[in-house]
Amino acid sequence: MKNLVAILMMTAAVTVAAKSFAAPPADTLAEVKKKGVLVAGVKDSTPPFGYIDEKTRTIIGYDIDFIHAIARKINVKVELKPVTSASRMAQLQEGNIDMIVATMTKNPERAKQIDFSHTYFFTGQKFITRKGSVKALKDLEGKKIGTTKGSTSEQQARKALPTANVLSYDDYPQAFLALQQGKVFAMTTDESILLGLLAKSPEKSKFEIPNIQISDEPYGIGMRKGDKNFVDFVNKAILELEKSGEAKKIFDKWFGPKTDYHIQRNFKITADK
Ligand code: GLU
Repeated sequence: MKNLVAILMMTAAVTVAAKSFAAPPADTLAEVKKKGVLVAGVKDSTPPFGYIDEKTRTIIGYDIDFIHAIARKINVKVELKPVTSASRMAQLQEGNIDMIVATMTKNPERAKQIDFSHTYFFTGQKFITRKGSVKALKDLEGKKIGTTKGSTSEQQARKALPTANVLSYDDYPQAFLALQQGKVFAMTTDESILLGLLAKSPEKSKFEIPNIQISDEPYGIGMRKGDKNFVDFVNKAILELEKSGEAKKIFDKWFGPKTDYHIQRNFKITADK
């Protein structure tokens, strides 16, 4: 009996080890077709890109609609796994998710580690401040600024405001809470995310987004490095969504004149040069 227990325990340990050391699939497209499900890493507290719908308790948003549109083209189901700005690349590289669709900016540093699709959303980094407290970037010098760990927002804020004290939280709602509680003087990230946070806040009348932009933020879908078939498929899929008008429909659903976050669509999905 003792031996049997020992053998069972060893088998379990080997299974766990095998699972955690299994190499991520080299051809994700083939793997997704085989398993019948596309597993995407998404934000779950970043309206209107990925957040929990109060009625259905499911994650909805701009990013989520892109995932469903791509999954329809592969003819598979969708599974959403919440990720943070700091965890998303490791989750992808470890094979826990097939793709990142999570407000993620494409930049050369990240592109050394993962591959990106063509740009499917375009925004720029700004700030939320108390009304009337900030007129120009210099008003933020030497101040405490809240943002999120592992984001480009953190890097750009340090670059643009070398004397500011940039405090990084786990997600954007926490950074916004710190601003409401007076723990930071301003918070910063992509304008499209700031609009989402403000629109959902009962205290929105006390705050504003001054017209101070410190960077461009093109969003890409993240995939494993060298996963060529999958990258090609996703690129083709999003170009088709642009051509058919579906990409614009998704934009209008989340950012059009009837929404809380209304902005102009100042980009089209085109092939990267
Ligand atoms: N787009 C920026 C980034 O990729 C900020 C939003 C985020 O943290 O996801 O870091």
